[in-house]
Amino acid sequence: MSEAKPSYDAARIEPARQAAWAERGDYEAPRPAEGQPRIYVKPSSPFTSGNLHMGHVRDYSIGDAYARFRRARGDAVLFGFGFDAFGLPAELAAIERQVLPAEWVERCGDRMLGQMKRLGFSFDYDRVFYSSDEGQYRWSQWLFLALYEMGMIYRDDATVDWCDTCQTTLASIQVEEGGTCWRCHNEVRLIRRPTWFLKVTDHVEENDENLSGLDDWDELSLATQRYIIGRTEGVELDLRAPDGRGMTVFSPHRRALARARFVLLSPRHPEVESWVTDPAVGEELEGLRSGGWERSARDARSVPVIDTGETVLGPAGEELPVLVSPLVDARFGPTAALGIPDVDEADAEIAARVDRVGWQPPEGEREGGGEDPDSVPTPEVEGARETKRYRANDFSISRQRSWGTPIPVVNCDACGVVPVPEADLPVALPRDLMPSGEGNPLAERADFVEVECPSCGAAARRETDTLDCHFDALFLWVPSAVPPEARAEQMFTHPDLKQWLPAERLVAGNDSGGFVFDQRTVTKALRDHGEFAFMADGEPFAGCLFHEMVIADGRKMSKHLGNVVDPDELVERYGADTVRLAVLYAAGPAKTLNWSDGAVRFASRFLRNLWTYVQDRVAALPDAVHDPEAAADTEHMRDRLRKWCDNGLGRITEDTAELQMHKSVRNLTRLFERIQDFEKRVLKRRGQLDRADAEAQLAALALLARALVPFAPHAGEELLIALGQGEDALCSWPESADVPVKPESSATTS
Ligand SMILES: [Zn+2]
Ligand SMILES: [Zn+2]
Repeated sequence: MSEAKPSYDAARIEPARQAAWAERGDYEAPRPAEGQPRIYVKPSSPFTSGNLHMGHVRDYSIGDAYARFRRARGDAVLFGFGFDAFGLPAELAAIERQVLPAEWVERCGDRMLGQMKRLGFSFDYDRVFYSSDEGQYRWSQWLFLALYEMGMIYRDDATVDWCDTCQTTLASIQVEEGGTCWRCHNEVRLIRRPTWFLKVTDHVEENDENLSGLDDWDELSLATQRYIIGRTEGVELDLRAPDGRGMTVFSPHRRALARARFVLLSPRHPEVESWVTDPAVGEELEGLRSGGWERSARDARSVPVIDTGETVLGPAGEELPVLVSPLVDARFGPTAALGIPDVDEADAEIAARVDRVGWQPPEGEREGGGEDPDSVPTPEVEGARETKRYRANDFSISRQRSWGTPIPVVNCDACGVVPVPEADLPVALPRDLMPSGEGNPLAERADFVEVECPSCGAAARRETDTLDCHFDALFLWVPSAVPPEARAEQMFTHPDLKQWLPAERLVAGNDSGGFVFDQRTVTKALRDHGEFAFMADGEPFAGCLFHEMVIADGRKMSKHLGNVVDPDELVERYGADTVRLAVLYAAGPAKTLNWSDGAVRFASRFLRNLWTYVQDRVAALPDAVHDPEAAADTEHMRDRLRKWCDNGLGRITEDTAELQMHKSVRNLTRLFERIQDFEKRVLKRRGQLDRADAEAQLAALALLARALVPFAPHAGEELLIALGQGEDALCSWPESADVPVKPESSATTS
């Protein structure tokens, strides 16, 4: 055989396979057959930044391998996503380039979709959407109104950065170090202004309790939920002021309650006003609220503390000063907590700062709080009840920016805040709005602002704040499950939702914990509201895999450091399959992937060697002769090869089902080594391969290629074609290693 065998050429085979998949309809979410398992694999929703980065490649390589694996096993698979397209980064990029944000977003999306297709990700591209599309944000507005009606959205004052020169509020990333404006470099100041908030506290307990039942969530994703929820176990008891007013206080130190020295109130405690009777203290509280509350317990030395001058009576009748500090929020949420400096380090810091508490660190202890509360016998306190507190806080959802979903309310002098009737949605964002970084361009558009009050008909003004893109993300996991043509009418009511939701698996970066927590909250709200009643536990994701980020040279990739790895360059040089294999192989999902050329060189070598090896063995088969005696002599070797294949397949199947793709890839490379080892042993024993050996080896290589398909789909399928396998082998997962051992089997087939 002197035929020239083509060497591995990703640039040739990859476009060809991608065309075949499109033809075959691989990408489309199928209509599931009766009784067929149906799964929705939800990857993360990218911002329309204009470029996939290596973190995306990692995310989608894991998700795509899983989607392909489940498809090959006979499940109906929906693998779809949409772009998170509103928000500041797109607005700033548009200002910089002097293009309309809508145009910029479209350009970026097109480019990113091109990159995804080039990498061979098998998304249902017909279902891709942009959160900034009118048909999409109409439903953000619908959701806003539904949550508003349920009391889960409210308006309150919040502190924001403000530039007097630019007449605009600034996001924190627009405030330079030293507190100056990114645009004009003048000093920025904090102002108070009305802001919309989403209430998460109603569902926080259920969100916490459900965690123990989420068996298909990996440890990283569960840990982030626990952290965000921030549960503290403890006790609560009812105290009274000398004048009879009551207050319920919490403490995690159930055995030390009798040693309380003060009470610390959250500035957001519902009854805080009633404990602030002195106008001077009221002013102080107002100032404190403007200063922001996001402080951690470690800041107990510097966190603001206000002495209200008020007193409540402790468990033993002792007088406890009532103090106010956002330290409570950072630890236990908007509650009241007993300050027990003897046993609590943060409380000791606070006590040392307030003279009226009159507390001194115990002898020999400078810091206080070091005492083990369980070692000191203290009197039982009557009336203490077991309870818990949660740190998770409501968060602001509105921004003074123009590239976002318009908030569907009207401000009327007579009626106050009036929701826009559902029939009048969407409140359209003018597509030709050009942000400048100065002022709020939306507020200057008379055609947008001036409106009749939906309630009384008088002249009124539209709300000109927009929703933060975090709000759009509350339901970014929903639209893929609805056919595009039905989204205008049935985004939350289409029958297919019951078929695909909850998503079988969310694959996302470990910085997505906040999004996921909020999505879990909103699912429960919509369950209570009726639309998602079929998800009884209110959980949008039955399974979840969080992966760590991709870094380079031990550091976060950044243009500044010059260590950004460009996926396009890698694909150009090595091909999509090599890049995908390298990303999967280099680290398990729970580990940070420190990118190095080692992984890509390893993957490249593996694919090239496998390619050449298969081509050579296929070409050599016609020359292999069958000799019954030789075949009998190597039967035990073929049997061992079959066992290796069986073992390898079992492991790869198990690891892939658990999304531990790094193990799958490692076992694929090991299986290849075993197959080569088989040949070496036969050659050593007999000098050549019998036809029975050659056929067993080709069967083993076909098995390897089939198991390779989810990870390196182009090369895997092309190898199967070279091995003479039919369409069925390309599209199905092997259930067992079909490696012929008995010489008879080969005698009958040759
Ligand atoms: Zn400025
Ligand atoms: Zn009105």
